[in-house]
Amino acid sequence: MRQQILETARVLSIPMRIKFRGITTREVLLFEGPNGWAEWSPFTEYEDEEASIWLKAAIEFAFGDIPEPTLKTIKVNATLAAVKDVRAALEPFGNFEVVKIKVAEKEQTLQDDLDRIHEVRKYYPDARIRLDANGGYDIETALALANAMYEEGVPLEYLEQPVKTIAELAELKLKLKLLNIKIAADESVRKVSDPLAVAQANAADLLVLKAAPLGGINNALRIAKEAGLPVVVSSALETSVGISMGVHLAALLDSEYASGLATAALLTEDVTDTPLIPINGEIPVTRIIPNKSTLTKLQAPVDRTTWWMERLERCLKTT
Ligand SMILES: [Mg+2]
Repeated sequence: MRQQILETARVLSIPMRIKFRGITTREVLLFEGPNGWAEWSPFTEYEDEEASIWLKAAIEFAFGDIPEPTLKTIKVNATLAAVKDVRAALEPFGNFEVVKIKVAEKEQTLQDDLDRIHEVRKYYPDARIRLDANGGYDIETALALANAMYEEGVPLEYLEQPVKTIAELAELKLKLKLLNIKIAADESVRKVSDPLAVAQANAADLLVLKAAPLGGINNALRIAKEAGLPVVVSSALETSVGISMGVHLAALLDSEYASGLATAALLTEDVTDTPLIPINGEIPVTRIIPNKSTLTKLQAPVDRTTWWMERLERCLKTT
């Protein structure tokens, strides 16, 4: 297995459409196993310990035993970063029922966030809304936003990680009960032990689960079951190969909540001619075979390839 991973590994460097998570180029490593292709793309600042968990997930997807989903498609949400031109940014998503709007970004005020929400409401009055703060608000600001949403009658699905810690989430959740506004925990759910901690602290109404940081599909399925909360499957800015793993997880979980897996369009290029971008808010449940010419075209510079291959060898030793 180790040999096959090293021999099929390809390191890619893909420019992004807009700055997201503070980066403008996404680096990923793809490899092939008997099940098909998998993506290993822990962010470059992650330590080996965390990156190894992501590797475990990718290895499971390419080599391991995973239940076969029966669903043929899954529902996804559109995603809007903190950009000025709301219309242009949302256009690639086509029709959608749910949109996730990034809020509480650095250098943005609560008013900027409200303006962006209003702009979305203007063009997509029927869309349900998720607000993702990445833990960027304090309790007071999160409450101010929630109150504004309540008063304006915005069809809010939930606030995603409005505040940073589990304790803050729990406190805010109590206060939001009166407004009937739900909280989803995202950044608080990263390590395998987190979902139960969040559930036990009564800190969230939903959990955002990502297959890679939880060590793979089987682990994520088990965690969702143990936590006993509704889940939203999400991804971490991946190519269609990485997204296909999330799509498999979402299909197996069959949540009532649309998945945050429509992120392929955030990259300027994908590894396939049939990328997992949504059609009418849905993505097919399928594996992705990268295009040979695209793999060559997107090949990372030599120094970056070396960096990733060394990282891969180190992490393989612990996986
Ligand atoms: Mg999030």
